[in-house]
Amino acid sequence: MSFTSLGLSDAIVRAVTEAGYTSPTPIQQQAIPAVLNGGDLLAGAQTGTGKTAGFTLPVLHRLSTDARGLALSNNSSPRPIRALILTPTRELAAQVEESVRVYGKYTKLNSTVIFGGVGINPQIKQLKHGVDILVATPGRLLDHMEQGTVKLDQIEILILDEADRMLDMGFIRDIRKVLAALPAKRQNLLFSATFSDEIKALADGLLDKPATIEV
Ligand code: AMP
Repeated sequence: MSFTSLGLSDAIVRAVTEAGYTSPTPIQQQAIPAVLNGGDLLAGAQTGTGKTAGFTLPVLHRLSTDARGLALSNNSSPRPIRALILTPTRELAAQVEESVRVYGKYTKLNSTVIFGGVGINPQIKQLKHGVDILVATPGRLLDHMEQGTVKLDQIEILILDEADRMLDMGFIRDIRKVLAALPAKRQNLLFSATFSDEIKALADGLLDKPATIEV
C-alpha cells in the first residue's frame, strides 16, 4: 500500500516522502480514502497512530486540487478560510499546524494557528495574510469570532481532533458556538480516543451518515 494508491496528489506524496514515510499507517489507510470521498467521518484513534496525517493529507488534497485551490497564488489575499481544525490544547494545535505546513509545502495553501495565553494581535495580523486552513483551540477562536477577526462562513471541512479531551476540558459550549457559525453544508471529521455518551451525542448531532473507523 502506498500514499499514491490511496489517491493523494503528487505534491502531497512528495512532501510525505520527504518526511520519511514510506507507507501509510492503518488509520491512514482507512481515513484517507474516506475523507477524499467527501463524506463525514467518525474515527477512533489514539495519539501515535498517525492520525494527524490521516486527516491532514486528504484535507490538503481536497483543498489544493479543486478549482478554488488550483486558482491560488502564493499570496492571493484576501481568501476565505476553508478548513477549520479544532484541538484541545495549544501544544496540539501547534503540532497539527506544523504538520499541515510540512505536508502542504508543495501546495499553495496557507495555514495558521491561534490559541490562548499569548497576544492576540500577531494572530490577527497572520489571519489578514490569507489563510486556507486554520488550526485553533476553541476559547481563543471564539475571542476572534467575537472581535470579527476571523470569519468562518466559507468553511468546507471541520475537523475535531481529540474531541474527548476537548469535552473533558469543558469546551462543549464553545464548540457549539463555533458550530453555529459554520455553513450548514460541510464535511465533518471527528477524531476521538474514547467514546463516552457525551461524545456519541456530539457525533450524532454533527455527523451525517459517517464512515466509521477504529484502530
Ligand atoms: P500522530 O498519531 O498523528 O501524533 O503521529 C505519530 C507519529 O507518527 C508522528 O511523529 C508522525 O510524524 C509519525 N507518522 C505519521 N504517519 C506516519 C507514516 N505513515 N509512517 C511513519 N511515521 C508516521
